[in-house]
Amino acid sequence: METLIERLREKGYRLTPQRLAVLKVLMSSDSHPSVEEIHNLVLKDCPTTSLATTYKTIDVLKEMGEVLELEFRDGSNRYDGIRPEPHPHLVCTRCGRIQDLDSLPNLDLDALEMLKKTIARKTGYRISSVRLDFYGRCPSCL
Ligand SMILES: [Zn+2]
Repeated sequence: METLIERLREKGYRLTPQRLAVLKVLMSSDSHPSVEEIHNLVLKDCPTTSLATTYKTIDVLKEMGEVLELEFRDGSNRYDGIRPEPHPHLVCTRCGRIQDLDSLPNLDLDALEMLKKTIARKTGYRISSVRLDFYGRCPSCL
């Protein structure tokens, strides 16, 4: 959070209480919230924050690579401000719950890194990011 604030200041970004409130929510939510959910949480802390400010702050962070955007076809994008680098997710198609896969114990994701290297070697691509998500019904929806 501190270093992020410093980086934003270096970029000449003015940190109003509203923008700070958006930052705080983003950096502390591990549920991959939507913009609306982020905005509702922000309002508890800073009731004068507009939805537009919430959108704009997320956009700035997205451009800086400080937040990961998970795009969905219906436009209800979700955000991960805790881990902005691409990582695999488990998504419930019914309730919309999103979970980080590497939060599971004893799950070896090195295979993914190997796969990336093999694909790069076989195709000549320099792979800059990987998008891998698993979709299905979570236990409580089942
Ligand atoms: Zn995540």
